[in-house]
Amino acid sequence: MTWAETPEAGPGDDGARLVWAGPAEAAPREVVAAAAEPGVGRDAVRVTGPLLDHHVHGGAGVDLATSPVGDVAAWLERGRRAGVGTVIGSLPALPAADLASALDRLRPLWEEGSLAGVHLEGPFLSPARAGAHDRAALCTPASAAGHAVRAALRGRPRGLVRTMTLAPELAGSAALERELAAAGTVPCLGHTDADLPAARAALDRWEALRRRTERSGGRAPRPVVTHLFNAMRGFHHREPGPLPLLLDAARRGRLRLELIADDVHVSHHLVDLLLGDPALAPAVCLVSDAVAATGAAPGTRHRLGPRTIHAGHDAPRLGRTPASTGAEEAPLAGGRRSLADSVAALLRRGLDPDAVLRAATHVPRESLGAEACDGDDPARAGVVVWGPAGTRTVLVRTLTRVTPAG
Ligand SMILES: [Zn+2]
Repeated sequence: MTWAETPEAGPGDDGARLVWAGPAEAAPREVVAAAAEPGVGRDAVRVTGPLLDHHVHGGAGVDLATSPVGDVAAWLERGRRAGVGTVIGSLPALPAADLASALDRLRPLWEEGSLAGVHLEGPFLSPARAGAHDRAALCTPASAAGHAVRAALRGRPRGLVRTMTLAPELAGSAALERELAAAGTVPCLGHTDADLPAARAALDRWEALRRRTERSGGRAPRPVVTHLFNAMRGFHHREPGPLPLLLDAARRGRLRLELIADDVHVSHHLVDLLLGDPALAPAVCLVSDAVAATGAAPGTRHRLGPRTIHAGHDAPRLGRTPASTGAEEAPLAGGRRSLADSVAALLRRGLDPDAVLRAATHVPRESLGAEACDGDDPARAGVVVWGPAGTRTVLVRTLTRVTPAG
C-alpha cells in the first residue's frame, strides 16, 4: 500500500472540493492543526473515517452492472480520494445469468478489498414500485425465474452479497429471507407495495431471524429500508401505508433508514426532520444511489444494467435523452450527487454535523457486520477532516500505487 498525494480531486457540483490528500506525516500544518482540534459547535472541525456508501450503482460514466472491472476499479479509487473510502456496490434487477456474470466480474474487487461487497437491488421487487428497474427482470422468489436467481446466489462466498433489497409481500419471500439470513446477507425493504400490515409481518419475520442468528453466536446487523419514501406507498391518515411503522421501528433501534439526500428524491424538509430528530437520526444511512449518469456531462447517455439512462438537467433520468423521447421529465433513475457531495451540501445547509457525519460513516458501516471496525481505523483507511461549510480534507490511503500529481 502507498499513500497517494493529489492537490485536488473530484470537484462537487456545489463548490465543495478536496483540498489536500496525502500521507498524514506530510500533511500541511493547517491540516494537522484542524485534525488535532476537534471542537464543539456547528463550525467546529470534525475528523471522521472515510464515508461508506451503502447504495451506489456507479458514477461519472461507470456502471457497476456492465462496465469493465478496470473502469470500476478506477472509479472506486477516485471515490476514495474524494472521501468515500468504502463502497457496497449496487446491482439493479437482473435476470439470473446477468446477475451471476456481474457478481463474477466484481468478485476480484471484493477479494482485493477495494469493494466492500455487493447490494442486490432486486430482482424481487414489486412491479407496482419498480422505479427505474427493468420490469422484464422482476420476478417473485417463488417463480421459476426467482428459483434461478436463488440458485445463482447459492455457493457465493460469504460477504460478497452484503445486502439485498426486496419487496416482502411477494410470493416465496419468507423462504428467500431464510436463505439470506443463512448467507449473512442483510435484508432491505424497498421497491415494495406493502401496506402497513404486510410491512409489519416482514419486520416480525426479520426480527425472528435476527434473534435466531444472535442466539447461535452470529452477528446480525439491523435490517435496512431502501431509500425511505422512494418506491413505496406514501402516507395518508386513513391509509397510512408502511411509513409510520418504519419510522417507529427505526426509533426503537430495529431498523436503519436509507435516505437519498440529493434534494431531488426527498424534500429537504423531511431530510431536516429526520436528521434533526434525536431518536431517528441514529438510524439514518445517507446514500447516494448514484449511477453512471451522476457527475456526467448533461445530456450524455449511460447504462443502469439493462436500462438506458441519461444525465438530465437536474438528475439522472430514464431513457436516451429528453429530446429523443419527447418527454419533459423522464422518471428519476438515480441520485444526482456523490455521497461526499451530499454530505458537504448538508453541512453547508447548517444541519447538525454530528448527525450528518454519523449517517454517512458509522450507521451504514453496520452492514459490514463483524468487520465494522476496519473502516474506522485511520491507519488502515485514512481520515477526512470536515471544516466549516462542508469543506473537506481527505487523507486517503490507496490500495494501488499512483503517481503523485506534479
Ligand atoms: Zn438504487
